[in-house]
Amino acid sequence: MKFEKVALPYATDALEPVISKQTVELHYGKHHQAYVDNLNKLAAGTKFENTDLETVVKESDGAIFNNAGQILNHNIYFTSFKKDGGGEPKGKLADAINEQFGSFEKFKEEFTAAGVSVFGSGWVWLAKDESGKLSILKESNAGNPLTSGLIPVLGFDVWEHSYYLDYQNRRADHLKEIWKIIDWDVVSARY
Ligand code: MN
Repeated sequence: MKFEKVALPYATDALEPVISKQTVELHYGKHHQAYVDNLNKLAAGTKFENTDLETVVKESDGAIFNNAGQILNHNIYFTSFKKDGGGEPKGKLADAINEQFGSFEKFKEEFTAAGVSVFGSGWVWLAKDESGKLSILKESNAGNPLTSGLIPVLGFDVWEHSYYLDYQNRRADHLKEIWKIIDWDVVSARY
C-alpha cells in the first residue's frame, strides 16, 4: 500500500486572506506531495513498506523519518483549518486548556510565542500525554510529539514555505492570523 496525503477538506482559496490560494496550492500540492513521493520511493523494499504512517514516524530515522514525519505533520496541519474558522476550542479540550494555561487567550499567547521562537524550520505543537495533560512543544524540521510518546492535537508549520509568499519574513504576523481559520471541531476531537 502506498503512502498518501490526506484529502484537502476545503477549496484551495477557502483560507484566504489568512493563507492565500497560491500558498495552499504550493504547500499542499507541491511540498506535501513531494514528501509523499519521497517516502514511497524510500520505503520501497524496506520494513516500512506496508506499515502505517504513525509507526514509520515512531520507528524510523534519517530520510525516511523526515519524509514520514512531514506527511503526518501536514496531514494534521491541513485538516485543522476551515473556511470562516476560528473561535475557541470545545468541550474537554477547552477545559484542559483552561486548566493548563489559565485561559484560551493565555494559551494562544504562549503557543504563538513558542512558534515565533522556533529557530529555522520546524513546528510548534499542542500535545497531550496519556493522562490528558497538555503541553506545548517546539520541534525542528519534521519533528512530531509522537516521538516523545505524546499525541499531537494542533500543529502550526513554521517552515518559511508555509507563510513566506503571504507574509514574507513576518512569521509572527502569520501566526497571529492563523487562529482565524482553525476548525476547533476537528482539533477538539483529537483531544
Ligand atoms: Mn510545510
